[in-house]
Amino acid sequence: MTMRRPLIAGNWKMHKTPQETEGFIRGFLPRVKGVDSVDVLIIPPYTSLDRAGRLIEGTSLLLGAQDLCSEPEGAFTGAISAKMLVACGCSHVLVGHSERRELFGDDDQIVSRKLKAALDAGLMPILCVGETLSEHDRVEEKVTGQLRDDLAGIDKEGLEKVTIAYEPIWAIGTGKTATPEVAQETIGMIRSWIAQHYDDAAARGMRILYGGSVKPANAASLLAQRDIDGALVGGASLDDEKFAAIVDAAL
Ligand code: PEP
Repeated sequence: MTMRRPLIAGNWKMHKTPQETEGFIRGFLPRVKGVDSVDVLIIPPYTSLDRAGRLIEGTSLLLGAQDLCSEPEGAFTGAISAKMLVACGCSHVLVGHSERRELFGDDDQIVSRKLKAALDAGLMPILCVGETLSEHDRVEEKVTGQLRDDLAGIDKEGLEKVTIAYEPIWAIGTGKTATPEVAQETIGMIRSWIAQHYDDAAARGMRILYGGSVKPANAASLLAQRDIDGALVGGASLDDEKFAAIVDAAL
């Protein structure tokens, strides 16, 4: 049996200046000192990445970005490349977060290209998938369609660098959390899809996170589920004490 190492990731969305980022990191690092069985990742906005990268150097705290451009370089005003993220100290990048899909028009073709751009630059993408409330009764169809289109052309070697985050859109930022059983059911289905489309070893090794209103009070029951390997946390990751409490729930 593969022991998958838990990953607790905090997506700050459009919150925190570089100064506020520094304040968070200075408060957070002592709280997670000595945590060695869980990967802990912060995902600040682009403008905080360089400063965050310098502050976490030499620690086990990991840094990620919220998005990237599908192109490596060129005339793409306002866009940020994978190489720029690596240079700031990022090891991870979110791809296909529901807010990018819903508010910024990232469709599955774009998500697939961004995934490849991340892998080409040596970044580890966290591919976000999930259904809206009105799609909830056909969640399997929705999520497997996203997996099929987003992972198109990614071979087994590439897949090893990918983490999947299942985030029911109706649970993001709403205070509504999927019950541990509901989250487990879909995440178990995602793992079976990986086994069918790659192989059993790939499925056993794949880290799959749950996201959607994870808080200190509900983290342990979600993380106790067989196929849930960690959490992608939005709101509760902005506060160093709350985020550290979620990390503790994964120990
Ligand atoms: C997210 O942004 O991925 C998320 C899950 O947000 P929240 O925890 O605030 O629901």
